[in-house]
Amino acid sequence: EATIGILALQGAFAEHQTRLQNLRLKRRIITVLVKGPEDLLLCDALIIPGGESTTIALLARLSGLLEPLKEFVRKKPVWGTCAGAILLSQSVTNAKKDGQELLGGVSVDIARNGWGSQVESFEAPLSVTDLPDPSVPFMGIFIRAPVVLGVSPEAPIQVIARLPPHLLPEPIEDDNDPRTIVALRQGLHLLTTFHPELTKDDRFHDYFARKCVFPTVPM
Ligand code: GLN
Repeated sequence: EATIGILALQGAFAEHQTRLQNLRLKRRIITVLVKGPEDLLLCDALIIPGGESTTIALLARLSGLLEPLKEFVRKKPVWGTCAGAILLSQSVTNAKKDGQELLGGVSVDIARNGWGSQVESFEAPLSVTDLPDPSVPFMGIFIRAPVVLGVSPEAPIQVIARLPPHLLPEPIEDDNDPRTIVALRQGLHLLTTFHPELTKDDRFHDYFARKCVFPTVPM
């Protein structure tokens, strides 16, 4: 079994918990809402939800979680969705004036609200070959989503999903442009710029459990 924590300071943490509780795996998953350092000690893996990255970082500092989280990211699997993806990145542009504290862990540069403030939200069907039933598109829900500006060439990054060029909020010619990347994995870390927890589709949660939480257990 494994205990998966969900950082529960702000944002869509309850939805992540529901999705995890729906999974049917050979190994038991226990979920914990992480509000302080003592909760994090129980966890084998962590999800950082969408919400507001600046607020989440500030609340993490106030609750004494910032340093324990940085330490956790160095050792254990972490999945960041949307705001959580920003927190897992190595650098961010468009941060608020007083800056943005990051946890690091994933070697990408990301732009906060990267599709521009006029693009508040949009949905796009994503074809993701690594998920169960890959012929069924996964509905990507993007809400003031961050945009991947670059990935470190030397980092062991596996791109899991890209936005099809015709669905991009602004035209991008090159299929390999990093801005088309919306899901990627680096070792035990998973980053999605959209919100799988806001759908009723559990396949990304299943992916995180299989590839990141129980990478050595066939399921
Ligand atoms: N724009 C938000 C931020 O900067 C992220 C939005 C989201 O998580 N839906 O943190």
